[in-house]
Amino acid sequence: MHPMSKAKIIMKKMTARLVKSCKKLGDVNILSRVVLYIAICMVIVAAGMFCFYRPAREAVFSHENHTIVEVKSGDTLSKILGNNGFSMRDIDTISKNLKKDADFTTLRAGRDKIDFVRADENAPISKIIIENGPWNRIEIDCGTPDTWQCQKIEIERDTRISYKQGEIAQGSSFYLSALEAGIPEGIILDVYDLLAFEMDFERDIRAGQKFYVLYEENFASDKKVDNGHILAVSFDALRGNVQMYRYVKPDGHSGYYDENGNGAIKSLKRTPINNAKITSKFSGARKHPVLGFTRAHKGVDFRAPTGTPIPAAGSGRVIARSYNRGHGNFVKIRHNGTFETLYAHMSKFAKGVNVGTVVRQGQIIGYSGSTGVSTGPHLHYEVIKNGVHVNPMTVKLPAIDNLDAANKKTFMERKALIDSTIKSLQDNPEQIIRLNGDETINKK
Ligand SMILES: [Zn+2]
Repeated sequence: MHPMSKAKIIMKKMTARLVKSCKKLGDVNILSRVVLYIAICMVIVAAGMFCFYRPAREAVFSHENHTIVEVKSGDTLSKILGNNGFSMRDIDTISKNLKKDADFTTLRAGRDKIDFVRADENAPISKIIIENGPWNRIEIDCGTPDTWQCQKIEIERDTRISYKQGEIAQGSSFYLSALEAGIPEGIILDVYDLLAFEMDFERDIRAGQKFYVLYEENFASDKKVDNGHILAVSFDALRGNVQMYRYVKPDGHSGYYDENGNGAIKSLKRTPINNAKITSKFSGARKHPVLGFTRAHKGVDFRAPTGTPIPAAGSGRVIARSYNRGHGNFVKIRHNGTFETLYAHMSKFAKGVNVGTVVRQGQIIGYSGSTGVSTGPHLHYEVIKNGVHVNPMTVKLPAIDNLDAANKKTFMERKALIDSTIKSLQDNPEQIIRLNGDETINKK
């Protein structure tokens, strides 16, 4: 309804009511009637002003004018503000306030937007809104010159839990089968990272292997904005089913643990034989250009009397079990697309370890000795990253993390809740299950 006609109706109704009540007061004296009529007129005028004034104010708001600038490569806040008529002095004050009051650091090209808001087309800029990420925006109040108050406003995050399951199709990769199952690309890449030392996604994928992922999806006002963490992942690897659950410790640190509460993010052990003493360090020195001899030692030597069992530093596939003049009997394991390890001078190989064998971390692959070029029994251990020998003691590897008894107990409760959530979503994929800010799960 048009605001004018609404106001007219209200006025008509009020006048009718007043006239009716005046008729009831038929025998009041003239003076009282005059006072009454004046009062009626004042009420009508006031009502009229009230009714017409409000729509007028609303009309101003509906004409609010937005000039949106998308941040491009090479843009700075100063440049954008300067282009929109702000003086150097104002830009300086705004920059200082942004840093102090809104934790603002920098604009991100291709992602951020700046919205200059005016009351109407011809009015001066009253507010600057910096959209500096999906979950917050910064508002700068331009109504108070020389103050430029800044405020960071967090956008409320509605986190829902999504469950997707799939199976490796004949001749397909995990990546394609996961996309087919509806798993977003970012989550697939996170799965690769989580399982990097569990399996080789290039070589150890077989048709029929089943997998599932439980992960967070973040919504703002019912619109999906991005994906959050993986809460649980399961994969039927060649060496058996691998399960991981995310758990946030009371101190806020989070990690992934297996179904028994042991650290699930596997890595390479820097020292395959526990507590073995290093007898020769890694040295990357190249061949001396003048003297001609090389001082490079491409691995680390550990003291190990003949016959000491040598465990695999990480899960993987044996790609060499052989003999050469330098290494003597050696085993080489490929762990993933990035890492390989090599174990040399073995006196003998472990039974059942052949080229192609899939081994677990800690599985015995052979026994120490002094075969090849060696001055005495020891383990010579090499780590090869993307084809290049690296120092096993310093190469960056994921940390292996285990839970203490108290955390393990809380973890098992968490695991039960996640398992029941998976069951609910398997039974009814359409239902919305939310993850609250305190990590509790809200099934409605
Ligand atoms: Zn060595």
